[in-house]
Amino acid sequence: MGRAFNFSAGPAVMPEDVLQQAASEMLDWRGSGMSVMEMSHRGKEFISIYEQAEADLRELLVVPAHFKILFMQGGGLAENAIVPLNLSQGGAMDFVLTGSWSQKSLKEAGKYGSARVAATAQSDGFTTLPQPASWQIGADSRYVHICGNETIHGVEFHELPDLKALGCDAPLVVDFSSHVASRPVDWARVGLAFGGAQKNLGPAGLTLVIVREDLIGHALPDCPSAFDYKLVADNQSMYNTPPTYSIYIAGLVFQWLKQHGGITAMEQRNIVKAQLLYDFLDSSSLYVNKVAKECRSRMNVPFFLRDESRNDAFLAGAKKANLLQLKGHKSVGGMRASIYNAMPLEGVQALVAYMREFEKTQA
Ligand SMILES: *Cc1c(COP(=O)(O)O)cnc(C)c1O
Repeated sequence: MGRAFNFSAGPAVMPEDVLQQAASEMLDWRGSGMSVMEMSHRGKEFISIYEQAEADLRELLVVPAHFKILFMQGGGLAENAIVPLNLSQGGAMDFVLTGSWSQKSLKEAGKYGSARVAATAQSDGFTTLPQPASWQIGADSRYVHICGNETIHGVEFHELPDLKALGCDAPLVVDFSSHVASRPVDWARVGLAFGGAQKNLGPAGLTLVIVREDLIGHALPDCPSAFDYKLVADNQSMYNTPPTYSIYIAGLVFQWLKQHGGITAMEQRNIVKAQLLYDFLDSSSLYVNKVAKECRSRMNVPFFLRDESRNDAFLAGAKKANLLQLKGHKSVGGMRASIYNAMPLEGVQALVAYMREFEKTQA
């Protein structure tokens, strides 16, 4: 089998150019005589890779100077603990529940302080987003947490809430694991954003944290040193050994993004890809996506066959057509097509063509 179209939710499809470049540099990175994974993280070669990656990311996401970019480890799940360890100061935190990932964040934060539900879309099966004006945020809130894109339920904030306009001074924390770099970020509305790299940025093992400077330096006394944002920031993410190879690959992805027009061009491509798939789903009598139109994710498209007894046949046929990893998350069932930045339009076209053919054979 050659390279297939890979719809995995994460770890996920990578740009082929990046994989090719990494392969060509695997044994000897640019005349250094070393593979990147063999380099000291304190050597000048790796420092140059790190500095380039950070500068490219800052440029791509237009990260203001008063935000620090941290390259950490532990994934999005670890940040569910690391954020309250650094930001809660033992006080209360408010969570907007829009699916599995924000639910997990709430549960974990409860270990470190009072974690409250500001709003929840559970009653409609997480197919909508609660309107910010309805959120119940305490006046003592240390921060308000949202998941920007719910990878499992397929709902996405297409505009970040303006907490100040709601009369709330607490910083907004955004889990942007599964849509980082797919669209611009309005940093004026954000205090901290975090995400694992393995959805849209690179290989697993790297966690990106972008945090406003004034939120750094308030960690609880029992916060592990390696997870104290101040120590990480003061040491340019090298308080301990960072995930060097993952940072290198993410850096190649940042270069690839720049070569392809940056984040706004990526967003336009993502809109076109998602529209193609949703339009087809809405026109079909076999497949259905249950998410309210204005909340639909551009990155993760869950859908169901109205006749679920056909699921196995659908997946087997897809695999034959070189369309991989379409099975939905076990907690919701059905199917899911993740169409991150690195998924070309041709991949979505091939998926829709296959789905249309499959539907015809079911008549
Ligand atoms: C994948 C994901 C996570 C968890 O990431 P890990 O790297 O597995 O810890 C958290 N939040 C969201 C939105 C995700 O998509």
